[in-house]
Amino acid sequence: MTRARPGPAALSLEGVSRSYAQGRRRLRIFADLGLTLFPGEIVALVGPSGSGKSSLLHIAGLLEKPDAGRVVISGRDCSGLNDKARARMRRYNIGFVYQFHHLLGEFSALENVVMPQLIAGVDGKPARRRARDLLERVGMAERLGHRPGKLSGGEQQRVAIARALANAPGLLLADEPTGNLDPETAVRVFELLLGLVRSEGMAALIATHNRALASAMDRYVELSAGTLIERRPVASRSAKPASAHR
Ligand code: ADP
Ligand code: MG
Repeated sequence: MTRARPGPAALSLEGVSRSYAQGRRRLRIFADLGLTLFPGEIVALVGPSGSGKSSLLHIAGLLEKPDAGRVVISGRDCSGLNDKARARMRRYNIGFVYQFHHLLGEFSALENVVMPQLIAGVDGKPARRRARDLLERVGMAERLGHRPGKLSGGEQQRVAIARALANAPGLLLADEPTGNLDPETAVRVFELLLGLVRSEGMAALIATHNRALASAMDRYVELSAGTLIERRPVASRSAKPASAHR
């Protein structure tokens, strides 16, 4: 049963399949997957290493194309878009956080968060204001001028999170964003990430190995043997009922 929701889904994957060439054969990673994220929903993507989490996130983030199926972002079917239109969708509608920060090493923390806004056509002054605000909210106010090489792993990921949110996308995709951090730092960075995503009202799909982190999200989906299994929340985070749609 589907509950009525205002507006289009932030992300909708419909019948998505992916396989890779392996010699003369094709290695099927997953087939005919469906997943819907509504605005403001935070969903964990779990599954063993090699189950296809990164492949799925790359497809959802328009970095790769599926062999079959549709990717619909904020009501817009992106399946038929050319590279330029896909890049534009990514720039304005999708934030991506990787396991490794992928910050630009020659630029400061502030500049790394300003840059995607300039590319999106925002003026320098408001772009710097937004960047400062985001970096403050991830606890990096004292390190605006630091280059990534002078930051710790946790600090680099905080800057990467601020950068992903710079253009206020409706959808955040994160691929094991704390996978390279020690457990304590991972929990802190994760809490920052969830807090920001909630306060911005974005939808988020976050791949993680960590069941405890997954339980802090609204629900989780599990990639297993090429299919996506919908799971109810692992632990009740609050009295708020879990969303009842599929
Ligand atoms: P996960 O992120 O869950 O660890 P991935 O999406 O990275 O899984 O990979 C899923 C499977 O697809 C793995 O078996 C991997 O070897 C294979 N794979 C991923 N990318 C490629 C590629 N570019 N070419 C061939 N095989 C790939
Ligand atoms: Mg992966």
